[in-house]
Amino acid sequence: MTAHAPTGSPVRKIPLDLRLRRLTVQRVDELSASVRRVALAGPDLAGFECHGPSDHAKVFFPAEPGAPLTLPDVASWGGRQDPRHVVREYTVRTYVPSSDELVLDMAVHAHGPAGRWAAQAAVGQELGVLGPKTSKIGPTDRAWYLLVADETGLPALTNWLERLPRGVRVHAFVEVGGPQDEVPLPRREGTQVAWLHRGDAEPGSTTLLPDAVAATPLPAGGPGWVWAGAEAGAVRAVRRDLTERGVDRKALSMTGYWRRGVANFDHKSPEAQG
Ligand SMILES: Cc1cc2nc3c(=O)[nH]c(=O)nc-3n(C[C@H](O)[C@H](O)[C@H](O)COP(=O)(O)OP(=O)(O)OC[C@H]3O[C@@H](n4cnc5c(N)ncnc54)[C@H](O)[C@@H]3O)c2cc1C
Repeated sequence: MTAHAPTGSPVRKIPLDLRLRRLTVQRVDELSASVRRVALAGPDLAGFECHGPSDHAKVFFPAEPGAPLTLPDVASWGGRQDPRHVVREYTVRTYVPSSDELVLDMAVHAHGPAGRWAAQAAVGQELGVLGPKTSKIGPTDRAWYLLVADETGLPALTNWLERLPRGVRVHAFVEVGGPQDEVPLPRREGTQVAWLHRGDAEPGSTTLLPDAVAATPLPAGGPGWVWAGAEAGAVRAVRRDLTERGVDRKALSMTGYWRRGVANFDHKSPEAQG
């Protein structure tokens, strides 16, 4: 395992062995009204590795919830656009080798196959997991951190909170439906968490995240670090605000995780990254 940071980037990248694993649901917990925790296990998990807070994998779902899972031969698989398979990105919330469980926290919604699968997930069902391909380790020595998420970014945001040193200044903004959708987060000295409730508004339709960030003065001292994972329009608006306020683009690790109205959104597209 060799870690390297590309020139000028503070993010260390660790290439990992890319394998497609067939795993079985071992446990399902209700983390909140809209997020279900799915613990996966099985012999294929042997050798799994993951180190970074926002490391993610491609998850293969059955064509319909309850249908048998067919997995491709990775060598001939046509990629995420291959219509024969339903594949979506999910963050590795935790993987502890000793417990032999890979844990995903999945937003439940009725708009897409993965959201619908999460709603009915049950012990004994199967998913395919390809990756992570690379572990990305962001800096943990910054003067301050700004973390921004909706339900889909919550697993990575929680991972960040678990990894940052005690006492460092952290502002976290999380948009969810209401108090019933909040999840327990690590309590840390120096961390302020603002839960933003969209109420009856559709997910991805509000400006709660960019408005809250824009109303927050940037902490003095620096440099800081900004991580965001949420609906693409919200992430883009936050990015624009921060760059206009002079935050160095190299201090931004921000990705549109999904796009309202777009199925199978590409998180590497300019719309997600720009
Ligand atoms: C790097 C990365 C890590 C991610 N990690 C997680 C994670 O840990 N947990 C998690 O829950 N999600 C995560 N996501 C987001 C998840 O991949 C998307 O939400 C995905 O689109 C869900 O697939 P789907 O089949 O339900 O919907 P799709 O078929 O992709 O889309 C169908 C419709 O559903 C809408 N839609 C998609 N997601 C949502 C949503 N969350 N709420 C409301 N409407 C939605 C779309 O806008 C579209 O109109 C991550 C995404 C990326 C890129």
